[in-house]
Amino acid sequence: MVSLDTAALRRWVLGLPGAFLANLERLNALDTLAGDGDHGTTMLRGLNAAAQAVRLLEGETAGATLHAAGAAMRKAAGGASGPLFSSLFLEFAKVTGESGLDLDGFVRGLESSVSTVARLGKAEPGDRTMLDALGPAAAAARASSGLEQALEQALNAARDGVDATVSMVARKGRARFVNAGVVNGMDAGATSVVLMLEGLLEAAANQKMEGA
Ligand code: ADP
Ligand code: MG
Repeated sequence: MVSLDTAALRRWVLGLPGAFLANLERLNALDTLAGDGDHGTTMLRGLNAAAQAVRLLEGETAGATLHAAGAAMRKAAGGASGPLFSSLFLEFAKVTGESGLDLDGFVRGLESSVSTVARLGKAEPGDRTMLDALGPAAAAARASSGLEQALEQALNAARDGVDATVSMVARKGRARFVNAGVVNGMDAGATSVVLMLEGLLEAAANQKMEGA
C-alpha cells in the first residue's frame, strides 16, 4: 500500500468516536489521577464533532476531509487537549494530497504535529504529556521504509511511550499540581495518541482488505 486513500481517512475519522467511547471510562479515570477527570469526555466530544463534519462532506479530497475533521474538533473540544489533538488532523491535512496520505506525508504529519503540540503546549519530551507518545511515534515513522511498516512502528513506539509516562513527573498540564506531579498511572493524553494511531492502522488494514 502506497497511500491511505480518501475512503480510508474518512473511515479513520468516522471510527474514532466508537474507539474513544469504548475507552471513555479508562481515559477519564487516568485523568482523574492526574487532573480533573474529563479527558475521555473532551476527546469524545471533539471526535464526535469531527466525525459529524466528515459525514456531511461529499466528494471532498483526502486533505479537505482531514481539515474539516480538525476544524470541527478544535471548535467543539475544550480543555487543554482539544486544540492540541485537533492539530493532529490539521497538520495531517496539510501533508495529505488530493488522493491520500503516503509515507512521506505520514512522517511529516507526525513531525509537524509534534512541533505544533510542543509550541502550543510549551511542552518538552519527558514532561508527561501526549508528546511522550507522539514524539517517539514520529521518530519511529521516520526510521521506517514503507507506509505499513511506519504505521505499525509508530503505534509500537507510542505504546512504549505511554508505558514510559508512568514513571515521569508531570511538568505540564493540571497533573503538575497533583501530588507534586507524581501520578500513579500513565498519561491520559498519551493514551489517546495510541488510540488515534490504532484507528489509523485499522483503517489501513481495511483498505488493504478491500484490495485498494
Ligand atoms: P485539561 O487538562 O484541560 O482537563 P484534558 O484532560 O482533556 O485537558 O487533557 C489532558 C491531557 O492533555 C494530558 O494527559 C496531557 O497529555 C495533555 N496536555 C495537557 N497539558 C499539555 C501541554 N501543556 N502540552 C502538551 N500536552 C498537554
Ligand atoms: Mg482534564
